Amino acid sequence: MSPLDERIESLRAKFGTRLAILGHHYQSDEVIRHVDFQGDSLELARKIDGLAAEHVVFCGVRFMAESAAALARPGQKIHTPRADATCPMADMAPAARVEDVLTALREDGRLVIPLAYVNSSAEVKAVCGLYGGSVCTSANARVMLEWALQQGDAVLFLPDKNLGHNTANQLNIDPAERLEINIRDEGRRLDHKKAQYARLLLWPGACAIHHMFRKAQIQDLRRARPGVRVVAHPECSQGVVRAADGAGSTSYLIKYCASAPAGAKIAVATEMNLVQRLAARHKAEGKEIFPLKALACSNMAKTTEEGLLELLTNLDAATPLCLSPDVVEHSCVALERMLRICA
Ligand code: SF4
Repeated sequence: MSPLDERIESLRAKFGTRLAILGHHYQSDEVIRHVDFQGDSLELARKIDGLAAEHVVFCGVRFMAESAAALARPGQKIHTPRADATCPMADMAPAARVEDVLTALREDGRLVIPLAYVNSSAEVKAVCGLYGGSVCTSANARVMLEWALQQGDAVLFLPDKNLGHNTANQLNIDPAERLEINIRDEGRRLDHKKAQYARLLLWPGACAIHHMFRKAQIQDLRRARPGVRVVAHPECSQGVVRAADGAGSTSYLIKYCASAPAGAKIAVATEMNLVQRLAARHKAEGKEIFPLKALACSNMAKTTEEGLLELLTNLDAATPLCLSPDVVEHSCVALERMLRICA
């Protein structure tokens, strides 16, 4: 154990049950080895309810910690080692713009239900709660989109157009019934005529990491390594998901690798920290697991062991993440709808 590891572990021991550390799968091994719970967004959001710890340190990006802050019990403090570790995709859908666009769409006389991927700010989730919508993760997007479509005339899915299209493909929603909306100029460039006929309105956001995987990379790999399997996260484009042997949430990708037979060669199209961890975990079983392309999320990488140590050293004096009571109330409505529907 390095001196840094020892100091972090001794602080964890000092805080004992007063502290819980949660880490997203995309965190580096150096951070993940200090967490109490590792998971995807939904798994970690579900953990909050049962945590008695006074301090919860969330190693991930800001929207995840915000969900934890909204679901935390009174007096529980949610911290992040780096306040500036945001998700660029979440930043593509500012709450004020979402509300403007949603209002403009509803002025056409249709009941448009907002459905936000969890990779969105607490303010955006609050807009969803306020307007009868909800949130979803990559693991439950299909169930939640089906639910949202039953609540009104159309769904505004945001911010990830790729997850929206891939989920719509699972539900056999005709591409002619989908519209990627123009959100420029506070919604003044919306094509209202086309929007009237769409059942699924897609915010034009995407994850900079997953959007960089290409169908051609899969085709080249299959030519070079016959027999290789490819699995992809649904934040990848429709072309990548269609060309892959399977697609699903991080939990799906983890299970896929675990259940593959010995000797399997699997290329995974997602953030490379998770892929490298899977490669190490299953190497002894004779499985070769590797990234389709080595891509790391620079915002996830902002959380380091050094940053974690600094936060733990000053934890009792640290300012926890704080959301306005309105945002907590309405984002909780959206989050709890999802947790209830997917219970
Ligand atoms: S991997 Fe993509 S979706 Fe996840 S935090 Fe990074 S930018 Fe956001």
